[in-house]
Amino acid sequence: MSFKYPVSRPALEGRELEYLTGAVEDGWISSQGPMVGRFERAFADYNGVAHGVSCSSGTAALTLALRALGIGPGDEVIVPEFTMVASAWAVTYTGATPVFVDCGDDLNIDVTRIEEKITARTKAVMPVHIYGRRCDMDAVMDIAYQYNLRVVEDSAEAHGVRPVGDIACYSLFANKIITAGEGGICLTDDPKLAGQLAHLRAMAFTRDHSFLHKKVAYNFRMTAMQAAVALAQVERLDDILATRREIERRYDEGLAGVPGITLMPPRDVLWMYDLRAERREELREFLAGESIETRLFFKPMSRQPMYLHPDWPSLKAHTFAEDGLYLPTHTGLSAADQDFVIDRVRAFYGAG
Ligand SMILES: *Cc1c(COP(=O)(O)O)cnc(C)c1O
Repeated sequence: MSFKYPVSRPALEGRELEYLTGAVEDGWISSQGPMVGRFERAFADYNGVAHGVSCSSGTAALTLALRALGIGPGDEVIVPEFTMVASAWAVTYTGATPVFVDCGDDLNIDVTRIEEKITARTKAVMPVHIYGRRCDMDAVMDIAYQYNLRVVEDSAEAHGVRPVGDIACYSLFANKIITAGEGGICLTDDPKLAGQLAHLRAMAFTRDHSFLHKKVAYNFRMTAMQAAVALAQVERLDDILATRREIERRYDEGLAGVPGITLMPPRDVLWMYDLRAERREELREFLAGESIETRLFFKPMSRQPMYLHPDWPSLKAHTFAEDGLYLPTHTGLSAADQDFVIDRVRAFYGAG
């Protein structure tokens, strides 16, 4: 079913087509040629970080980050209970075990509950900036320092939030704040880590390219066609974030005080406008009837078949997953579109 008001739509009205055409005309469409490096440089510079290593997805970025930090079988990585499953899967792919920590009221990992999950096997912590809300990174970095843990930030939903961990990982999927269609990128200040990320991304060739491979690595390379789109997106990231800020303001204002709705804490950057709704399923059906798409919150990791654990009914993440949803959030949404969405939500709850 296609909605008149979809949850997400990529904004491709900058130089995307121009750069893409340029890549095709040049004949540089693989990961070789100048475009991938141009995108990596632009995104690293935007964030004030020394190195950017692009790859094929956000999931690939997380996997490369953990591998570059030497994480593998026998290790444990602290991961939020409330996140998209790819955060945990990246840990599982390396052979390590994800250890889950419940969320706080802002949906992010509850930093006061991290220490109780640390064991002798814990090697890293993966804070996720859920829906564009920055984790309490001071607290995370303090714990990491105290217990000698590495920090991999899952910034898939938080382009524009300044990274501080060892490696920050971004998704460039079509519904994220900026996109390459599919893609991802790791940012790090450490030149050795950047080298490892690039090495693991491209099949761990030896320097002499002799087809001797000393470890199992990946083909997670980004193409120049993806990088062309991503570069044009980075050039407009400030504008995109400003437009999204305005979308957040308009929803906040229009939905304040509606009985049945609970607004969520402010975001550092807006990815998806999240809220909690009484009679959620009925609301979703009503909005769908008005051609307005909505999406549910993430299902907690304890409810995923590969990670089932018995304490899930008592988790905060579970209560959010029961009544949370998000509304159409993309830069193509006009003020009138947003007012229509707001009006329909208000009408559903009899708040005219
Ligand atoms: C989207 C997302 C990912 C995965 O990114 P892909 O590019 O889809 O692989 C990982 N973590 C979070 C929090 C995400 O939202």
